Order: sequence, then C-alpha cells, then structure tokens
Amino acid sequence: MSTLFLNDLRRLIVKIGSTLLVDNANRINRDWLNDLAEDVAFLRAAGHQVLIVSSGAVAIGSHVLGINLRRSRLEELQAAAAAGQVQLVHAYQDALGRHDINAAQVLLTPDDTEVRRRFLNVRGTLEKLLEHDVIPIINENDTVATDELRYGDNDRLAARVAQVVMADGLILLSDVDGFYTADPRADAEAQFIGSVDYITEEHLEMAGGSGSSLGSGGMRTKLQAARIATHAGCVTIVASGAIERPLRALANGGKCTVFAAEATPAAARKQWLAGMLAVCGELRLDAGAAAALESGSSLLPVGMTEVIGHFRRGDAVTLVGADGQELGRGLAAYASDEAIVIKGCRSEQIEGKLGYRGRSVMVHRDDMVLFDRK
Ligand code: GLU
Repeated sequence: MSTLFLNDLRRLIVKIGSTLLVDNANRINRDWLNDLAEDVAFLRAAGHQVLIVSSGAVAIGSHVLGINLRRSRLEELQAAAAAGQVQLVHAYQDALGRHDINAAQVLLTPDDTEVRRRFLNVRGTLEKLLEHDVIPIINENDTVATDELRYGDNDRLAARVAQVVMADGLILLSDVDGFYTADPRADAEAQFIGSVDYITEEHLEMAGGSGSSLGSGGMRTKLQAARIATHAGCVTIVASGAIERPLRALANGGKCTVFAAEATPAAARKQWLAGMLAVCGELRLDAGAAAALESGSSLLPVGMTEVIGHFRRGDAVTLVGADGQELGRGLAAYASDEAIVIKGCRSEQIEGKLGYRGRSVMVHRDDMVLFDRK
C-alpha cells in the first residue's frame, strides 16, 4: 500500500484489539498507548479525521476486580466492563492529551446503529465531536449488553460505526499482520494475501475460527466486519498493531491486507436509501427548498409546505416539489406530528414551537437520495 493510498482516506476508524492494549496481567500497556497516541497525532496532522474503537474494558476490569475471565459469568463480565471502561478511557484521555487532543467516550449497543431512529442520534453526536476536533473513543456498552443483544465483537462494532459516519477507511489493528490463506501460526504453508477485491465464502473459510484468548475477534470476525464496511463504501485494512508506530508504518506502505470498498461511502448510502421499500409519508417542499436540495443542501423545516402521512423519526419519506414531482426520498429527522408543527419555521423558531431544542434539519443531506429529473 502506498502513502498516497492512505492519504485518500480522509475519515478513518482505527479499531484497537485487547491484545495490544493490555499486558499478560491485564494491565493497560501505557507505552503502547503512548505510541498509538503519537500515531493518531501524526494522522491528524496529515489531514485525517480519526475515530477510535477500542476493546479492553473487560480485560482491564478483570484485573481491577481480580477475577478470572474464563471462569466468569455474565454479571461478573459486565461488572468488569464497568470498572475497566473508566480506566480505559482515562488512559486514552491521558495519552492523547499529551498531544493536546481531546477524547470523548461513546458507548453503543446494537440498536444504536441498527435502528434508524437511533442511528441518526449516534451519527449526529459523532459528527459534532469531529466538528469540535475531539476523538471519539468508542466501545460496546458491555455493562448492559447481554448474550442475545450485543455486537459480540468490536470488529463488527467498528464496521457499523464506519457505516454510520460514512468513513473512508477502517483499520483493524491487532496481533496479526494481515490475511493469510490459513492461520500462519498453525500452518507453515499459509500464504499472505495483500489485497482482496471482493470477500467470498472461500475467504471466510480460509479465516477459520477465533484466534486469541483475550479478544473475541479472530480473522473470521475481521472478514465479516470487512464485508459490512466495504459494502458501505469503506476500505478495510487488517494490520499489525504490535510494531512500533503502526499507523505511521501503514502510511509509509507497511505490511497489511487491504479489502477494497465496493463503492464510495456516499454512493453506498444513496443505494441503501434508494432500496428502502417502506416509505411512510410525504413532505411537500416549496421551490426554494427544492432548488437547495438540488445544490446539495439538507432540507430545513422552513422549506416544507405540507406533511402527509404518519411517520416516526428515522422513517423514510418521499420529497415532493411544488409542481407535484417526486424529487427523491430521505430519512425524517422528526416524526410527522412534530413536522406538522415546525413546517415553514426557521430553525431558530423550532424550540419555541416544540418546547425543546430539536435538530435544525428535517432531512439531512447524507440521509437523502435525489432522483434524476426527467
Ligand atoms: N467490548 C469488549 C471490551 O472492551 C471487547 C470485545 C472484543 O474483543 O471484540 O472488553
């Protein structure tokens, strides 16, 4: 991979596996973290936006509580996550703070990325943090996650986050330096694969089961995550984090496996929206709003003249111009009963109308697909 290649990926998710972050006694590996923070500062100086998805809470918490991970039950693991997460995020804050970088903790459950209404909330918060130049440190909310309701592994969580924020690149850092035809630790014949254009069942078979004792993700979960991310238009990179300055090494063309994106993030999002079958309502727009949409703006409440149908926040709605022509569709940021109240209002009037400070847009431009005008 050339320097130019990483340069092309502006918004990056960096996923850190537990094995990198904790030592054999499940204590935070501060030297490693300081090295990573230097790398993050390096990427930001090169113009990248960085979001971190970090594992390690459960492992660190097991050290705090003095429990054996393999013999612990769910409640104990949840308690460990609670105790470990606070140390984990504090350690990041400390390491990044040395470079004057602010960190923010974001804990997610699957509903936050899988349910459209909630995904709009997560997206809004993460975008704001990036706007303020703060690095989100994201983990699964293990304290409330149960076996039935969890991402299961942070590779998948990272891929979902990549999808939500339309990231250009997902870097999965762990103790493996790439994808091989078989597990290189068990099979001397294993061949390294530097790039994958399209992930097939055959690739998944090569990946086998879970690898390390700490993290739940082996190569198989990395491939599954890469499938989600590449489908969402995000290039996925599997690389070793167990070397000095791993992200700088990547930028300099270091060893890794690159899974190509199937489209750009914007094209993938539009395709996803266009394929949404259930449209729950209709918004009629004035001519000014229709023109603003065509030039790439979001739909503001002021541009709505009529709200038709019953829909909830996150539901798909049709956008119709003053001439009755369908312009496109998008995800509503307000439910229909609220949309009726704020239609025609300027954004600063929303609070007065609704009694709370809502969002400024009715349909965000990233949540909208416009049809070609005939
Ligand atoms: N969320 C877990 C933790 O922070 C890790 C999950 C994983 O290893 O993928 O401990």
